[in-house]
Amino acid sequence: MVYKSHIPDIPIPTEDIYHYIFELPERQSQQDVEIFIDADTGRTTTVAQLRRNTRRFAGALQTKVGAKRGQIVAMCAPNSIDFPIATLGTLAAGLIVTTSNPAFHLDELTEQFKDSRPNYIVADYTALEKVKAAAAVIGIPDEHIFVIGAPDGRTTMPVFEGHTTLYGLLDGAPEDAPLVRLTPEEQAVTTAFICYSSGTTGKPKGVQITHRNTVANFCQYMAAERSWWDQLPTQDMLIGVLPFFHIYGLHVLIHVPILRRAPIVVMRRFQIPQFFELIQRYRVTFIFAVPPICLALAKHPLVEQYDMSSLREVICGAAPLGTEIAVAVRERLNVVVRQGLGMTEVSPLSHILSATEVVDGSSGQLLPNITAKVIDEEGNEVAPGEAGEMCVRGPNIMKGYLNKPEETAAMIDADGYLHTGDVVRVDENGHFFVVDRIKELIKYKGFQVAPAELEALIQTHDAVADAAVIQVQCPEQATELPKAYVALKATHQDTTTAQQIMDYVTERVAPYKKLRGGVEFIDVIPRSPSGKILRRLLRDREQAAAKAQ
Ligand code: AMP
Repeated sequence: MVYKSHIPDIPIPTEDIYHYIFELPERQSQQDVEIFIDADTGRTTTVAQLRRNTRRFAGALQTKVGAKRGQIVAMCAPNSIDFPIATLGTLAAGLIVTTSNPAFHLDELTEQFKDSRPNYIVADYTALEKVKAAAAVIGIPDEHIFVIGAPDGRTTMPVFEGHTTLYGLLDGAPEDAPLVRLTPEEQAVTTAFICYSSGTTGKPKGVQITHRNTVANFCQYMAAERSWWDQLPTQDMLIGVLPFFHIYGLHVLIHVPILRRAPIVVMRRFQIPQFFELIQRYRVTFIFAVPPICLALAKHPLVEQYDMSSLREVICGAAPLGTEIAVAVRERLNVVVRQGLGMTEVSPLSHILSATEVVDGSSGQLLPNITAKVIDEEGNEVAPGEAGEMCVRGPNIMKGYLNKPEETAAMIDADGYLHTGDVVRVDENGHFFVVDRIKELIKYKGFQVAPAELEALIQTHDAVADAAVIQVQCPEQATELPKAYVALKATHQDTTTAQQIMDYVTERVAPYKKLRGGVEFIDVIPRSPSGKILRRLLRDREQAAAKAQ
């Protein structure tokens, strides 16, 4: 059975992202809405200011920097209200944006740069030294590294430690430089963003998301939330804690607020009690969340000390949300709690649960223009109501992985269906329930942890013969944790401790990839005759141990 949305298909506009967001006739109203509010300083940006700065950034790239269409700008920065100037300005000048996590260890950043090959980098001031070191490896000159942010909120200074800053670039840059306007044919195939995801297997890969993918996903989302999108100006106030370097954050915390004219309080990082305090101060109505944020709303004792009565809705995505937590948030705060389901490779949203028809445990119904199939291990469609792997097809499916045709072909079949690696069950009303994940991916608080990456790292430890990393559940923190099974070399069995392996990893990765699930020694890692790790056996072993406790 092929599943379709209950919403009729919609036409997909052919504008590129910049022109779709800023230049359509229907976007010319409400330009003075202060859409971005900096949580730390209270600094704001209106739509008109953002549009002007976006154009100036594009002008600076073209005239001051000499950037060429099709080149790549890497963003390595936490959330800030200036971040969208750089991303949208890059697109307006006809360049591509790639994003990386500013918390990356130098080796991780270097690896990613070697893959994405950026021509220019916009780096947060706190990540500058690391970025320079990684950039040097791929031969990016210092003058192609621009700084965003500064200590003590001095974000508008023109130069920081010898590097031109974002505001230095904007200074004197022409607002009327000729922007790149994509033709409909170009819009369909031109990459806008390269975000990293490990997909169903292996190490992180560059997901090429086109202008059409992105514009399609705006429209698909709008069609599913018609009543919300149609009220302009909105009565909503949003808060943004999801990272902008992840496609979920880019989409719902940058583009949706601009299109909706919905002000958003932008936090540099998630912190309690600041998060609660901001909800109270700005009378926040709407939170785009991940499960650990829902957990905080459900259980944190400090919630009682703040006035949260303005809250109306919480949308949770990026990882499975336990029903118990969803119900606890709803009952404690008297809000609608619903899920969205997505994936970097689908730019990012494929499902949303309707606010007027919340079904506990469901991740939502299909957005329009998407069809889905649910298949068994042999690739045959399962009977309605039975569980199987979800495959999706639509205008928001990525163009493919950067320079990886084989991995792309393994992910998107000849009929155009993307095999998600998520196991779902669909009820008679088209509500999807994610019941398992057959891909390797581990989600720590919504962040991707690729087992293959950690396995390769652990295997470089002198004492290690072989290693496998799987997910274990941590209900107390509403997250999955990476746990390593390690087979030691015979010569090192008496002298190596689990702590040593954990420390080895901690020293070499971003904090969210730490082996928080622990390290367990095992005689041999179970592998198939072709050498593939038999993760299912390890997961079964884990479940048996949990039951025995
Ligand atoms: P990412 O590419 O980082 O967005 O990760 C996508 C993956 O996160 C999906 O394929 C799912 O495995 C998981 N995921 C995202 N949203 C949900 C959800 N609402 N329920 C269950 N899993 C989810």
